[in-house]
Amino acid sequence: MNKPAHPLYEQWQLALPLTPAPSVLYALVPVGVGTPLVECMTSYITRLAGAHCVFPGVLMRKVIAPFAENSLGDGRGAAAMHIRDGKSTGAFNSTQQTASNAVRVLESLTRRGGLRLLTMLTWAKVFPLFGLIRPMRAWCPCCLEEWRLADHMLYEPLLWAIQAVKVCPQHDRLLETHCPMCSKTAPWLAWQSRSGYCPHCQGWLGSSETKQKEHEREGAWLHWCADQVGSLLALAPTTTNAPSRSRIEEGLPAILEQMSQGRKMTFARLVGLSPKMVGDWFYHQQLPSVENLLRVCFAVNLSLQDLLLEKQFVCSLRSKETLPPYHPGPSQAISDRYAAYMSAKKLATEQQLCAEVQEAVRQLIEQDIPPTGRNVALVLSKPGILRSSVMREARRVAIREREGQILENR
Ligand SMILES: [Zn+2]
Ligand SMILES: [Zn+2]
Repeated sequence: MNKPAHPLYEQWQLALPLTPAPSVLYALVPVGVGTPLVECMTSYITRLAGAHCVFPGVLMRKVIAPFAENSLGDGRGAAAMHIRDGKSTGAFNSTQQTASNAVRVLESLTRRGGLRLLTMLTWAKVFPLFGLIRPMRAWCPCCLEEWRLADHMLYEPLLWAIQAVKVCPQHDRLLETHCPMCSKTAPWLAWQSRSGYCPHCQGWLGSSETKQKEHEREGAWLHWCADQVGSLLALAPTTTNAPSRSRIEEGLPAILEQMSQGRKMTFARLVGLSPKMVGDWFYHQQLPSVENLLRVCFAVNLSLQDLLLEKQFVCSLRSKETLPPYHPGPSQAISDRYAAYMSAKKLATEQQLCAEVQEAVRQLIEQDIPPTGRNVALVLSKPGILRSSVMREARRVAIREREGQILENR
């Protein structure tokens, strides 16, 4: 037997294989990047919290805000990572510092890049901050219902957060802002936010019911706006150089020259905007709001994308009949709904004040003080309450009721 004296053994590689450092939070993939329906930052945070089985409020307070405090080294920036009452959480989707802070912090925590595409940061130089993002959450019930039935991921597109977008381009219906169950509005991010559900009553916000077209007259215009903003959002990932302010400062005079040979009043009339507003753009270098920029583009048959991203463009006047009527406020349907909401709110406040007046009358009678108007006013949180005839009547009713009770008890 010829066995080698020193047999060779297999070699072991003792160095550890290279594995990337784990991320603190799941590296959740954002929905719809590169499409008009790209997800918004608050939706991403909501889903991220869901993936960790905690409420968004808990995720923000326990993980994101403390991490921001350490990594940003700026108390104010970190403070903005708290949801609080949710009122200013639209800023996460916007062009503000809050949005860029959220991008930095979440990219570090999830080790996933490109999260700025879930905000409007790409367009920070060309759109004014004021009026860019809706202060309250909006949604298309039909989109939500379709996604639920198709077992698609529930999320909220950035498109819904843009103030100038009033309709869903897929379903051509106005976006909803009030919960169908509790009628409340909600901020973009609340402590208990869940995509597709109301954070107050947990009611489902989707519906397959296609409403009567409440915006017939403005339909083409509203649909066009949603399409234009959607195309812009879809382009964000391939836009290597974010457009600078000069795109507007040079683009508007170019349109002015083509449409009215530089005459500003004629231009204002042609595009259907007030001369003062147009003057502010040219003389005071103010940036037009997205909505007004869209009005100009619509009137001169120019796409928003050509105005913001192309060096050369040609425009031509659209026929007057198709131009949307200009009213500086929200569209009629929205103001009608707002009026209905306000009257419901007024009723609720009135009921609360009536209860306060009744309570004041009860207290006074118990203390053997005559419940005169003056005495009742002294007990109320706001003495002016009794100026309203409804409240004066509430005082009289409360006195009669108390007297009735006292007689019964005798
Ligand atoms: Zn829809
Ligand atoms: Zn609700």
